Amino acid sequence: MKIVRDEKSGTFTFVPDKRSEKRILASIIKILKPGDKIFYDGRDEDRDGFPRLFFYAGAQKKEKVEKGNGWTSISIACIGGIKLTLSGNTKEDRREVSQIRDACFFGRGELIFIGETVVDEKKAIKVTVRHCKLCKANMINRVACEWGICDACAAKCQHRYISGAIRGGSLDISIGEFCDSCGRGKPEMADENMSQTEHHCAVEK
Ligand SMILES: [Zn+2]
Ligand SMILES: [Zn+2]
Repeated sequence: MKIVRDEKSGTFTFVPDKRSEKRILASIIKILKPGDKIFYDGRDEDRDGFPRLFFYAGAQKKEKVEKGNGWTSISIACIGGIKLTLSGNTKEDRREVSQIRDACFFGRGELIFIGETVVDEKKAIKVTVRHCKLCKANMINRVACEWGICDACAAKCQHRYISGAIRGGSLDISIGEFCDSCGRGKPEMADENMSQTEHHCAVEK
């Protein structure tokens, strides 16, 4: 799949490469209407170690309860729907696949169908990851999706910084200060560290 990121409109466009992708997208377009959810259902890696994401369009989410000897496990299963496998052919597409996974996983575990479009004479679909809870804007970035607040609203936030664990890209976790309402990190943090280091160096000279 070719994946086109549009920061301004907060959308991804999925353009089919293979014949099977063309068919799947065409049937998704037939059953979904704008605003419908496409559920994220995990990932694996292809033969070359590149990420592959699985989604279900037009599915129902059902709670699956399993009981064993002294334990109960509750999980969410997707029932029915059309399975969409998202994988990229180029390096750029693969990078987008990883970013979509993070935005979905730390967001709400779904994509939102915006509508159909045509790219290079192929029927494509436009999706977003989450809507901003304050202004309803489309969002595709991980931090925005995780906290449910778009960059424009975060810029207007009266930040209340607290200390805690901050997730970097992938699974890195560090301790730092971030706002507990919009999730954005304290901007001076890097500079403060820098000036301390510089001061330390100056003393040693
Ligand atoms: Zn907003
Ligand atoms: Zn804030």
